Amino acid sequence: MKEIKDLPISYVINTHTHDDHYLGNSFYNEIGVDIVGSNEFENETKLEKTRMQMNILEDAYSGTKQVFPNILVENKTISIDAKEINIESVNKKAHTKSDLLIYIPEFSTIFVGDLVFNERIPSIRDGNLKNWIEALDKIKSMDVKYIIGGHGKIVDKSSIDATYKYLTQLVDKISLALENGIDIADTVNNVSMKDFKDFKMYGSLHRQNVEIAYRMLEWSSE
Ligand SMILES: [Zn+2]
Repeated sequence: MKEIKDLPISYVINTHTHDDHYLGNSFYNEIGVDIVGSNEFENETKLEKTRMQMNILEDAYSGTKQVFPNILVENKTISIDAKEINIESVNKKAHTKSDLLIYIPEFSTIFVGDLVFNERIPSIRDGNLKNWIEALDKIKSMDVKYIIGGHGKIVDKSSIDATYKYLTQLVDKISLALENGIDIADTVNNVSMKDFKDFKMYGSLHRQNVEIAYRMLEWSSE
């Protein structure tokens, strides 16, 4: 980060409780930076190894300790360099139960964590589709210039479009399968999304998402 711009670091804000978004905390904690995160961190257990650490070689994370935020919030406004930073909890399970929106009015910018992925398929395993789409509707209605998601390089307002389209299509296609009495195995085998085939993680995540979404929507439509 220093190579991009050598500025002091006032706070680190963890947008949610997924380890690819907080495993860097130990570095900032050691240099005395306050780390802000959702109250939901209180319900997280510190595992010996996180999900990501189980999937990579130990050498790749030597020196990385699991450090949770030291300031837990639901809603909070902080001030950095006389600019207001509004931190607001989504307050219901959307991408996870712990999603935070970080809005900086002066820069017309909102950081939305993994509520928005672009150029990559979202992972829905810890989420709720209906609430997630609702959260995206709320973000879309905001008068902001930049929406910065958790993955992907697009940062203007269109950054939200791919995730929105993927989630709404997933709901539509699976609702239709449920209405037509198609079972889960056939649905997993048949619900493809051609617009997203070239997105990162399509091969490894899409089928899993269809299966999770089927169970989620089957349960909620009963
Ligand atoms: Zn995530």
